[in-house]
Order: sequence, then structure tokens, then C-alpha cells
Amino acid sequence: MLSLKNIKKSYVTGEFKQVALNGVSLSFRQNEFVAILGPSGSGKTTCLNVIGGLDNYDSGDLIINGKSTREFKDSDWDAYRNNSIGFVFQSYNLISHLSILDNVEMGMTLSGVSSSEKHEKAMEVLERVGLKEHVHKRPNQLSGGQMQRVAIARALANDPDIILADEPTGALDTKTSIQIMDLIKDIAKDKLVIMVTHNPELAKEYADRIVEFRDGNVISDTNSLEDEKSNTSYSLRKTSMSFLTALKLSGMNIRTKKWRTFLTAFASSIGIIGIALILSLSNGFDKQIDMFETDTLSGFPIMINQTATEIDVNDMKSQRNKMLGLDKEEGKYPDSEVIYPYNAEENRRTHKNNLTEDYVKYIEDIDKSLLSGLGYTRLVNMNILKMVDDTATTINTKDLNLSSYPISTDGNKIGYLEKNYDLLYGNYPETMNDLVLVVDEYNKIDTKVLEALGISSNLEEINFNNIVGHEIKAVLNDDYYKKVGNFFTLSVNPSDMSELYNNERAIPLKIAGIIRLKDGVDISLLSNGISYSDDLSKYFIEKSKDSEVVKAQQEADYNVFTGQSFAEDNGTSNAKESLLASLGATEVPYMITLYPKDFTTKDEVISYLDSWNDGKDKEDMIIYNDMASTFVSLSSGIMDAITMVLIAFAAISLVVSLIMVSIITYISVLERTKEIGVLRALGARKKDITRVFNAETFIIGSLSGFLGILIAWLLTFPTNHILYKVTDLENVAVLNPIHAILLVIISVTLTILGGFIPAKMASKKDPVEALRTE
Ligand code: ADP
Ligand code: MG
Repeated sequence: MLSLKNIKKSYVTGEFKQVALNGVSLSFRQNEFVAILGPSGSGKTTCLNVIGGLDNYDSGDLIINGKSTREFKDSDWDAYRNNSIGFVFQSYNLISHLSILDNVEMGMTLSGVSSSEKHEKAMEVLERVGLKEHVHKRPNQLSGGQMQRVAIARALANDPDIILADEPTGALDTKTSIQIMDLIKDIAKDKLVIMVTHNPELAKEYADRIVEFRDGNVISDTNSLEDEKSNTSYSLRKTSMSFLTALKLSGMNIRTKKWRTFLTAFASSIGIIGIALILSLSNGFDKQIDMFETDTLSGFPIMINQTATEIDVNDMKSQRNKMLGLDKEEGKYPDSEVIYPYNAEENRRTHKNNLTEDYVKYIEDIDKSLLSGLGYTRLVNMNILKMVDDTATTINTKDLNLSSYPISTDGNKIGYLEKNYDLLYGNYPETMNDLVLVVDEYNKIDTKVLEALGISSNLEEINFNNIVGHEIKAVLNDDYYKKVGNFFTLSVNPSDMSELYNNERAIPLKIAGIIRLKDGVDISLLSNGISYSDDLSKYFIEKSKDSEVVKAQQEADYNVFTGQSFAEDNGTSNAKESLLASLGATEVPYMITLYPKDFTTKDEVISYLDSWNDGKDKEDMIIYNDMASTFVSLSSGIMDAITMVLIAFAAISLVVSLIMVSIITYISVLERTKEIGVLRALGARKKDITRVFNAETFIIGSLSGFLGILIAWLLTFPTNHILYKVTDLENVAVLNPIHAILLVIISVTLTILGGFIPAKMASKKDPVEALRTE
């Protein structure tokens, strides 16, 4: 069944060529016990290794079941070793981190035998060698004789045709040797056993045939076989180690060096910790900024004024440079003894927004779902009177800190108030006659407002119920003024206007409720004072349209009256126009305020506003102010830059851990060289060896990944605590689960990458030399 035909094998070390086999020809029977004798260095081991497919011959041929092995590929040799050969070594060569059972099962594991069958078979052979009770022990818990029995059990487990034993009793005492020899003799009953031994007595006593070696040649053979006849039907089961087996093997190995593995994983997790922390911080800051954007910045309305400040990019740049101290403007602090006159009016960067009725209509046509509120400020002077001690006088409306509250776009007039303001007392306004008093977060209100309203203000505190229900009145222009020739004057004596106040045409206005900006709403849109419905100014304007006073004023070409107006005079509109406006002659608002629903709809609102300007001349354009946008683009850009820099730093530690893993794996390869040899002898492919070490780095990589994520996650708590103490921001560091998963994957990938070269080196190791290492 097996024959060597003129096998030659020599080793070259440097210049020196050592012939180990010098044309050996031997044939073996299917079932015999052959002992090989010979002095040390005569080529016995080499011959055994060649027979076992562990070592390659230089020339000649090895015939297995009538088939030449000259054309054998690596995979054929692997299968041959696994299926047909059982090795027994002098130094046992058990895998020390595996249990006895796992050691015996390994050959079957490699050829993919099912675990139940494997277990059954392994138990059977372990029983045969008399070690049934020790199956869960580790090799180092056994005596030498016991270890050799395990090795024999392992050799038998896959039920090979040939057992190759290289001085199996060389390390054992005489008594144990005899027990082992008895066992081998028993095995030889139905197998071909080829055993190398130093001991001629043992050989004579047990073997059927003795072959003697000297200087790489067979010098005697007691029972040689000339021509070997054999059937050629012969197929081998290919071997392959599953990644799971590789994982188990490496897992078992790692268990024997827990501390080293832990420390390695920890050290290589530092990069992951760094990156995870940085990501969770920037993630958190991004979230904070997002929240800030939606909460606060979307609260910043877009304002369209009749006069807009043109925002010049260059101007903003120079402002920023000034702030950063980068300003090196030329022409500053001139030495010349002259002054430079310039026209301030011409140089003012203002733009007159011509808010026409068409434009107001355009605004009204906006998709209302984009807005949470829409407010108009109209330049109308309402003549408002208060009654104190039976005496009515005009209120200087400026003192009331008037503001008109925006209308919620869903049609709910007070929706905006409900969303942003707490009702402290009374009711939200229901009709245009209802006013609300807006107080600040301390419930404070300027005494000026109270005095204007006619409420006694020289008290420490005033009860809500003394305010809610308080009434004042608005008087229409035609009642308030009378025409005297070309002039208008007040229709009654300003020191007592009770007549007007009590007139049934006077519009009663009542403070319906007291409201306060909600906690957490950052932008106060209504000034602390009196807030009224836009319906009121619309009503006033409506009534003013046909008013005598307005008509006369429209015809006049001089200014007769200086009214009070809500809106501050901007100095550009001419006096007559503004006077008319303040009398309520113009319906077009002085200012339009749009409250976008959130940050995303803000973009749409802006593009809607922009599209009005498409193709228009510069003077016809409507320029709006959106303070929020500049702020955001600045802050998130800086965050991104900082994050990138920090990640770059942390990435360096990843590279360091890559190198470290590479070194650790290399050391592991050196440590596990023997194991590599054993696995190869059992039929493991080169690929399987790579797999074993990849499994090891996979374990270390996952460990370091998970450890890194765990530590980073734990660190977010003290980090958040400190950040909260320092900045008042809550829960800034938030580890995104997706980042965590990605980082574990990165960690695994990097460590496998780091271990790849050592793993490849391991697979290239010569099995014979690997077995020789101690
Ligand atoms: P034996 O087992 O009979 O003692 P070996 O088969 O181990 O002898 O060795 C035969 C010869 O080949 C010896 O001279 C030994 O030094 C040499 N030899 C064996 N393996 C190697 C090797 N890997 N490199 C160089 N020389 C070797
Ligand atoms: Mg030897």
C-alpha cells in the first residue's frame, strides 16, 4: 500500500549540504509493525516525515496505494496527513491550552466531522488507551505516559491507515515504555505502524519487521517486500478548518494568557476611546446646536422693515477681523494735517424697502405651514386715553411699550402666544378690545408702563387682579382732532378729555391677562408692556380711511401735526408721508415679521422671499434681515474643524495600536510555533493556520473595540458632569450607537490588518521545523 522509490532528501544550510536520505527504497504492507533502527542522524526521522507527507522529498517517488505523489498539491498532502496518517512524537506534541478531548478531536475537527460523531469517536479511542477519566484535563495535568497515550489516541482518532511513531517511548521510563509498546502492538493488529526507535530490544520484542538505517541508507530489512500490489481506488477527504474552530482554538489559547490579552486590548483600545469620546462630544455639541437652532434660532424671526440695512460681506469680514485683532487697515491714523469731509447720508448703507400692497399680498400667499407666526407692525397712532380720578388724559403710547402680537398661521389668533407665553392670570386676548400685559421673567414691569396705564406704581407689589380688567380707551382721529381753518388741533382740552373718553364711539380696551415668556424660550418677541392684536390697528386704519383729518392732510402740502408713532422714525421717509401713516392712512405695514416653524422651513421661507426679488431692479428689491443664519454657519463650521483635528490625533494612537497588535501577534506566532507544527501534522492547511491567527487578532480586536466603547461610554458620565458644571449644558457627550458599531468594526479591521503579516508568516512555517522547536 505504501512504497518509497529511491527517495533522496538533503538539507542545505548555508554552504553545507547535509544528505539525510540517500536513495531509500522501501515497501510496506497494509498491516505490519515495522521498527526503524539506526544511529542518531541516520535519517530515520526524515524518512518518517517524508512518509507522513510532512516533509518533501527531493527526488524519487512515494507511492500511496499505487498512486505517485509527484504531482500532489498542497491540499492533497494536507488531506493525506489528515485522513491516512497518525503521528506519534517522542515529545507528545499536544496542544497545551486544549483539553485532552479537544486534542484528540482536532484531526476530526479539521476534516469537518460532526461534533457528536467526533465526541463519540474520541471517547472510544480515549477509552482504548485507558484515559476515559481524564478527558477534561489539560495535557500538563498528565504524566508522560498518559500524555503519550493521548497522542496515540489522537493519532487513532481519524482512523488512519498508517501510524507513524518517532521514538514514542524515548522520553518514558521502562515500565511506562512497555505499556505504550503494548498499546502500539495492539494497534498494529489492523494497521501499518512504522516506529522509529533507539532501543533494539524493544524493536525485536514487538516489531514484525526491522529496518536499519545508516547515513541515509537502508542497510538491512528483516522482512522486505519486493513488489507491492495494490488496488488504486483511493480518495481522500479534503480538510478545512472553520473560522469557528479557529476562534475556539485561539480563544482557548488566549485564555492561558488573560492578562496579556487584556492589557493588549486595553492599550489598543485607547485610540478607540479617544475617537469615541471626541465623536460623542461633537455629536452632543451638534445636537445642542441643532436644539439651539430649532429652539432659539428659529425663534429669531425674519424681519422685513421699510428700511433695511444692507449687509455687505466685506463689511462683515472687516468687522470680524477687527474683533479678532487681525485688522491691519491702511489709512488709519493718518499723519496728514488735513481733514476729509464725506457725506454720511450718501454713505449710509441702507435700502428702502417699498412695502407695497402687492408685496403684502405676496407675503399673505406664502405656504402657511412654513410659518408658526406672522406679524405686522403698522405705523398708526392710536389716540389712547386713560381715566384717573375722573379725569381722562392722553397716554403717550410710547410709554406703553406697545407691540402687536403675531398671528398664528393655523388661524388660531392666540396660538403664538399660547406656544411661547405662560398665562399668569386672566385670559388670553379674545377680541381686538383685549390687551395683554407682558411681564419679564421676574414678573417685573417698568413703572413707566403702569403710570401710562394709570395704575398707581409706587407700591412694592401689585396684585394681578388689580391689573387684569383695567380699562383704557382708543379714540378715532375724527373725534380726537378738529379742523380749525387749515390747522388741526385737539378737539377738547387735553387736561380733561372725559368727554371723549365717555363718548360711545371710544373703543374700550381692557387688559385681559398677564403673560410671561415661557421658561426655555430664549427670544422675547414682545416687549415687556402692552401687547395688542393686529386687528386693532387694522380697525383703526379702516376707520381712518375716510376720516376728515386724513383727507385734509392728504390735500395739504405742509405738516400740521406731530403725532406720536409706535415705530421709531427712521429719518428717511418724508414727514408728510409718515404723518399720514401715523394717522392711519396707510394700510401697508411698516414692518413684517415672519416666524418660521423650524430651521428647515426657514430655508423655504427665505427662498420664497428671495424669489420675489428675481429679475427686479435693485431699488425694487425687498431686503430682509435674518440674524440667525450667520451665527449658525459660523458655529457648526468651527465644531467640524475641531472634531477633525482631534480625530486626527486619536487616529495616531490607532496606528500605534496597529503596530502593537502586529508585534503581539508575531510573538504569539513564535509562541505557538509548535502548535502550528501539530496542526499541520494533523492535516491543517496553510490557510487554516492563517485563520487561527486571524481569529486571535479578531478576538483581540473585538475585545479592544468593545472595551474602548465601554470605557468611552463610562467616561461620558464624568465628562458630562464636568461640562455641566462648567457650561451648564446637560448631556453633551452622547455616544451614537452607530459610531460605536463602526468603531468596533474599525478596531477589528485594524487589528486583523496588524496581525495579517505575522499570520501569513505563521502559515509559511515549515511543519517539520515547527515541530522541532521547543
Ligand atoms: P535521525 O532521526 O535518524 O536522528 P534525522 O532524520 O533527524 O536523523 O536527520 C538526518 C540528517 O539530516 C542529520 O544529519 C540531521 O542533522 C540532518 N537534518 C535533519 N533535519 C535538518 C534540517 N532541518 N536542516 C538541516 N539538517 C537537517
Ligand atoms: Mg530522529
